Amino acid sequence: MLTPMMRQYFEIKENYKDCILFFRLGDFYEMFFDDAKIASRELELVLTGRDCGLEERAPMCGIPFHAASSYIARLVNKGYKVAIGEQVEDPSVAKGIVKRDVIKVITPGTFVEASEDSEYKNTYLMCVIEDDINYALAISDISTGEFKTTSFNNSMATLFDEITKVAPKEIIVDENISEELLKEIKSISQALITKRNLNKEICSEDDLINQFSEVCVASLDNSSKKASMALLKYIFDTQKMNLTNINLLEHYDIINYMTIDGNSRRNLELTESLKEKSKKGSLIWVLDKTATSMGGRAIRKWIEEPLIIKNEIEKRLNGVEELFEKNYFNEDLRLLLKEIYDIERIVGKISNKNANAKDLVSLRHSISKIPGIKNHLSEANSDLLKEWFNAIDELEDVKELLDKSILDDPSLSIKEGNVIRDGYNDEVDSLRTAKLHGKEWIAALENRERDFTGIRSLKVGYNKVFGYYIEISKANYSSIPEGRYIRKQTLANAERFITQELKEMEDKILGAEEKLISLEYNLFIEIRDAIEKEIPRLKKSARIIGDLDALSTLAIVALENNYIKPVINEDGIVEIKDGRHPVVEKVIGNGEFVSNDTLVNQDENRLLLITGPNMAGKSTYMRQVALITLMAQIGSFVPATAANISICDKIFTRIGASDDLAGGKSTFMVEMWEVSNILKNATNKSLVLLDEVGRGTSTYDGLSIAWSVIEYISTNNNLKCKTLFATHYHELTKLEGTLEGVKNYSVAVSEIDDNIIFLRKIVEGGADQSYGIEVAKLAGLPNEVINRAKEILSTLEDTNTNVNNKEIAIESVELKNTNSKDANSNFNDNYKLETKGNEKSKKVKEDNFQLDFTMIEKENLLNSIANIDVMALTPLDAMNALYKLTIEAKKLK
Ligand code: ADP
Ligand code: MG
Repeated sequence: MLTPMMRQYFEIKENYKDCILFFRLGDFYEMFFDDAKIASRELELVLTGRDCGLEERAPMCGIPFHAASSYIARLVNKGYKVAIGEQVEDPSVAKGIVKRDVIKVITPGTFVEASEDSEYKNTYLMCVIEDDINYALAISDISTGEFKTTSFNNSMATLFDEITKVAPKEIIVDENISEELLKEIKSISQALITKRNLNKEICSEDDLINQFSEVCVASLDNSSKKASMALLKYIFDTQKMNLTNINLLEHYDIINYMTIDGNSRRNLELTESLKEKSKKGSLIWVLDKTATSMGGRAIRKWIEEPLIIKNEIEKRLNGVEELFEKNYFNEDLRLLLKEIYDIERIVGKISNKNANAKDLVSLRHSISKIPGIKNHLSEANSDLLKEWFNAIDELEDVKELLDKSILDDPSLSIKEGNVIRDGYNDEVDSLRTAKLHGKEWIAALENRERDFTGIRSLKVGYNKVFGYYIEISKANYSSIPEGRYIRKQTLANAERFITQELKEMEDKILGAEEKLISLEYNLFIEIRDAIEKEIPRLKKSARIIGDLDALSTLAIVALENNYIKPVINEDGIVEIKDGRHPVVEKVIGNGEFVSNDTLVNQDENRLLLITGPNMAGKSTYMRQVALITLMAQIGSFVPATAANISICDKIFTRIGASDDLAGGKSTFMVEMWEVSNILKNATNKSLVLLDEVGRGTSTYDGLSIAWSVIEYISTNNNLKCKTLFATHYHELTKLEGTLEGVKNYSVAVSEIDDNIIFLRKIVEGGADQSYGIEVAKLAGLPNEVINRAKEILSTLEDTNTNVNNKEIAIESVELKNTNSKDANSNFNDNYKLETKGNEKSKKVKEDNFQLDFTMIEKENLLNSIANIDVMALTPLDAMNALYKLTIEAKKLK
């Protein structure tokens, strides 16, 4: 038979099957059965057992409840949900076993402290609804109270773009979601997927109206409304309380922002670098010099959602310009901003009934800076700053309340007293006087007794068990007057006594203290509730502060890095003078970055075909153009000496397969899938970067694909997007003059003897050689290999003059099938000689004319491994051999 406690446990657990249940017993949270096994493994806790009335003991492990938050964070970070089971009735009045229930469910999408950088990033929870015609999303960050929704027609690509942009920590989907969709979502997002029955588990429309407002709910389409109801219900179910900071439902339309698909976001390294996945090396790393957490989140949002409406872009640009020009003014503003805490999150804690007195002190301090900010803004001329001046709420009444009620340095816990300021409440004051008076009385008593007994070392002390006592050391026992004191406790060196009047005073002091603590607690809750009512006003000012911080940062960054204000046009012209890559120039430093001009327009310069050897700077140049465009549309100044930027509706970037190792997807198939996506979705307002497209397959296949993609882009009337196309296929340079809008550029290199120097300058005209071997030489490949490569190259050129890049004719696209085989077999024949007929060498790059040197080295390494006769080696030889192999392997990494 189960014990009553375990029966209660099972009853609760039944409703929280997908959570780890923290079951409060005394000062511990205990976990049982499978939960205990998981927790002991994930948290390195000792697994014990407990009698539960069944034959076998229940596996159990536990953690002290006061240390729970770090354990919860670890579990949630690993993608678990934690249900907190607490006593929900007063044990002193409970009949039988104390009632327990879950008071909160903590999940990756609802736990703010889970990640390290959560301060500057939103923690988003998302709900995806799919119906016949639409996808709808509802998104919330419960810590800041943000809640927004959108819907769009049934396009999976758009759905994935939004998911990658928002990067939610948890996604709620219907339990009947198709396997296919689920798999795709999992492949692009690390979010925890929570399946629910979204036909049933949604809140009512009335709930939605109560949380927000009738007007805003009425304006929603059905799918957005359903998504919002499902999300709100999940928030209710996990938080178990009404969060008053979630009070504004924003409906946004994805077409009001620039579209950037997930891959392009990654390739452009907007918020994290491709390789290290760190903030360092990304655009946000350069632009985010914000002073507040709210500003940090705002600038991130701006980078993720560049604008496409000219007026809005210019409003921001003009704001940045004003702060840029009045730098002294901006610096003063930033001094104020630096003093401001995360108001949004404090407000979140207030609505969660979690805020303590220290939080309110931070809030007070932050609010006290708003009048200064408003005063500053009163001098502003630009529209955006003026708008903020009019809208920002100084919250004087809230500050006044906090000023008079909360101490400057209150205690951390609101259950210990020492929270309320003198003069705020009469009863607090008189209890404090009583307490103080009592303490003075005790000090006087000590003096009096010393005089009376003549014992100078006599003292009055206090401990929790015995209360106040008089302590006299052993040496003075003989001086204790008969019958004056009552003996209470004997220590090794001293005796402790009490007197009647001491105990009476003790009751008064302790009584006052107890009353004071509970009174201060009640007053604090009253004050917190009063502030909770002002949450909408607090949130409004907080948002303005965040945006202002972001704007101010853009001005500072522009000044520090020599950016200029771009001109915005809608004529399809991108003209950049002395453009620089904002991140690369920071990384290489010292002003060593070589700037370059760019002209893309709607006639001769619509598709820039950029050739040049590896490492010349093609990819950097293309990304620089995309980043400058994107920065301009954020409202930021740009790294150039002049820029006229046409608003782009979408930016696409596709990096050729072998360059895209970091993404982990290097298959040719993915590359082609993405190119097809671009061709389907780009418009004449889009900016498309194609970097070495076609590289992932054999030379002729790749060349043909690259060629026809260029043709398609330049001739298809619906497309005609602004395109930058980097390639090592010089054959393509012939397209200039044949296809409308195609213009050749190359990255200049200078060649001295056999050595090349990268000049990093983009010049008109195509490159006529690949310089592959010269680059290999620069990379330090042994001379032997370099010389041999030259031999092979010249053999290839001699025997295959018709596929040689100098000879290929623009009409001979058909060549690829007939000649590629010859070329390959020829290549292999040559290579076989070098590797002494080893059959495996056939596998070596059967298709790549650029003689990929690392492939050859890898092949050699493989051969060396295959040739080891393990049985013939002594242990020492084996060690040596292994050592050599690792050295070789490291070189190739
Ligand atoms: P490619 O795509 O032609 O192979 P990348 O664009 O990857 O070449 O550039 C290779 C390296 O050259 C970059 O990592 C960067 O350090 C450097 N580089 C590129 N462009 C410039 C430039 N304009 N000024 C200075 N260094 C540059
Ligand atoms: Mg490149």
